[in-house]
Amino acid sequence: MTTLPLPTVDHWIDGASAVGTSERSAPIYDPALGRQTKTVRLANRDDTESAIAAAKAALPAWRGMSLARRQQIMFSFRELLNARKSELANIITSEHGKVLDDAMGEIARGLEVVELATAFPSHIKGEYSENVSTGVDVYSTNEPVGVVAIVSPFNFPAMVPLWFFPVAIAAGNTVVLKPSEKDPSASLWLARLFAEAGLPSGVLNVLHGDKEAVDALLTHPDVASISFVGSTPIAQYIYSTAAAHGKRVQALGGAKNHMLVLPDADLDLAADAAINAGFGSAGERCMAISVLVAIEPIADALIEKIAKRMSTLRVGDGRRGCDMGPLVSLAHRDKVVSYIDAAVGDGATVVVDGRDVAPDGEADGFWLGPTLLDQVPVTSSAYIDEIFGPVLSVVRVPTFDAGIDLINTSPYGNGTAIFTNDGGAARRFQREVEVGMVGINVPIPVPVAYFSFGGFKASLFGDAKAYGSQGFDFFTRQKAITSRWLDPSHGGINLGFPQN
Ligand code: NAD
Repeated sequence: MTTLPLPTVDHWIDGASAVGTSERSAPIYDPALGRQTKTVRLANRDDTESAIAAAKAALPAWRGMSLARRQQIMFSFRELLNARKSELANIITSEHGKVLDDAMGEIARGLEVVELATAFPSHIKGEYSENVSTGVDVYSTNEPVGVVAIVSPFNFPAMVPLWFFPVAIAAGNTVVLKPSEKDPSASLWLARLFAEAGLPSGVLNVLHGDKEAVDALLTHPDVASISFVGSTPIAQYIYSTAAAHGKRVQALGGAKNHMLVLPDADLDLAADAAINAGFGSAGERCMAISVLVAIEPIADALIEKIAKRMSTLRVGDGRRGCDMGPLVSLAHRDKVVSYIDAAVGDGATVVVDGRDVAPDGEADGFWLGPTLLDQVPVTSSAYIDEIFGPVLSVVRVPTFDAGIDLINTSPYGNGTAIFTNDGGAARRFQREVEVGMVGINVPIPVPVAYFSFGGFKASLFGDAKAYGSQGFDFFTRQKAITSRWLDPSHGGINLGFPQN
């Protein structure tokens, strides 16, 4: 039997597929099948320069296009994406592994940002003050920053690129998007769709690659800004390298999100929330709840409710209507298992063990079932590190204050949640917790598109969050214009600052 060659995922440069000159490539797996299904090209510096050059060449015409025409293209993209989102969901599931429903949810959140971006003329309007000095007016314009680069992670192959490029493009910039090499096809599909919606060639380019391509973007003089989402060590590297090369940077990093459950909470609501936020997308979400902080009196009852619900979860191929899919790669699955082993070695109790899961899927898939650990010591690597898998660790604390202290000692500050029926306690939590996105009886408090997304501390390097008003601020630079149209009574020579 002859085996057919695997399809190759090419770059998208200047409105067309491009193979580039690099000889390097990487495998793409279907995590539920556990085998390679495609190959992706890995760009070299020359390929990266071609993508930047295409974006640079497209900039003057795109920036010069009327807002009304740009807005029509944004609306067409929104309509096409909404009509064809199930195609994209299938691509996501086949490369990432998350179940189809969850892939549709990720697209829905991305669509919200596209919808926000269709309203861009209101967001990039300037200001005007008349007669600031006699006969002098001051006004501002918000100009695009130029060629912008976006580097995205594997865990939201459509949503994270959609956090950035619709806003950047609507605001008049041109883009080089470098998606994760683990699941790059969603970005390519989105770029082709945008072209179908009428986006001119070169405005959105998709460059596949790894560190070599990213380094070329970080250091290239024609790239004005970098929007990065990924793990904290890489976010730090991106932030310092791009800033040293004079670029604007927003670099969103990793997370370790705690959910605090007070004794007066509705424990059924809290148990449902812990399951959804702990095991949705197999825990591969930057807003996943990975630590459940239970105040002692209710810890046992809460754990019992969660464990009971976990026994009903179906793990398997995301195309078979299961609740939870596989992990993204074999190496990542093994790493997550090593954290469960470490927790046990450090004295934690395994309440539900996902290591012996019986999945509804191919034997070679990258499976790990939902795992619940109790009494996890805060000195264990399973508590300290971002595991990024379906592992929920319970830490018991004696008081509400001890719970807030624990959360505030974490180096991360992405998301957190409190479950309680006490409005005063919730209000105190909201004020005192050092975390960028806070849920009150809401486990995954991802802000809607017209707010902005981003954490504190080691979860965000730079000043600007993603999308919302901060997204428009990041992708524009404000110019202030002071103007005077002379009338017959102008004032003559005066070397001092005007005293109005
Ligand atoms: P990652 O840091 O390994 O990779 C992210 C991107 O950086 C990819 O495009 C990758 O090709 C590139 N990259 C990897 N190593 C690099 C290097 N040495 N130099 C330059 N570029 C490099 O992250 P991941 O595993 O793809 O994604 C998971 C991580 O992303 C988790 O830590 C998760 O918390 C985080 N994340 C954060 C948010 C947020 O909003 N804060 C959202 C989603 C994911």
